[in-house]
Amino acid sequence: MPKPCKLAAGNWKMNGLRADLSEAESLARAFTAASCGILICPPATLIAPMAEALAGSAVMVGAQDCHPAEKGAHTGDISAQMLVDAGARHVILGHSERRADHGETSHLVAAKAAAAQAAGLVTIICLGESEVQRDAGQTLGVVLAQLADSLPAGAEAANTVIAYEPIWAIGTGRVPSVAQIAEVHDALRAKLPDPAISLLYGGSVKPDNATEIFAVENVDGALVGGASLKAADFGRIITALHAA
Ligand code: PEP
Repeated sequence: MPKPCKLAAGNWKMNGLRADLSEAESLARAFTAASCGILICPPATLIAPMAEALAGSAVMVGAQDCHPAEKGAHTGDISAQMLVDAGARHVILGHSERRADHGETSHLVAAKAAAAQAAGLVTIICLGESEVQRDAGQTLGVVLAQLADSLPAGAEAANTVIAYEPIWAIGTGRVPSVAQIAEVHDALRAKLPDPAISLLYGGSVKPDNATEIFAVENVDGALVGGASLKAADFGRIITALHAA
């Protein structure tokens, strides 16, 4: 049985101008032969220039969303094929900020994932419970239902990564205990259609807590928001993942 690939993925969200490409470039200089996948998902405006700047390096470029349709009358949206054309290899889908800000359901996430995978992108599908749901003891039920409804048919290790991101841990500096992370990752692993799919943890991963999180069984890497914006911080997280 092949082992899941390790992946350190950075989600720049709506941050970053051309001047910030230097952060991606210095990361690529620091990790020339990476023993884990390294990915930056910048805002859509930076995908093409970042892919150009990082061509031939160990750092891959991804996107943060795509539309489920191939093309057509969808003003302001971006298709999966357009992302590929711009140089993206991965796309984050179903991030809790998109589920909250744009009312995205798990069924829409599955439709987007099917389109992205058909275009050749690896989809990073995000799942996670709210604080109210955790306090009510609903975490596993919520996350496993999101998994079942967000995965398209044909999801496998070659085209799918799952990111467990408790909503209450994103951007807050609060992190679940290692036992809480382990409980969810173990439950997810047991329900994956392909056990070699990589399972990332996301939510306030920082250089100081990365080693402890990466030591948890069934954590294959991280989806990192704020700490991915600076090459020095993201680099320390990548080094911790190498060592895990
Ligand atoms: C995220 O938005 O995917 C995320 C994990 O953010 P942060 O690391 O800033 O909590």
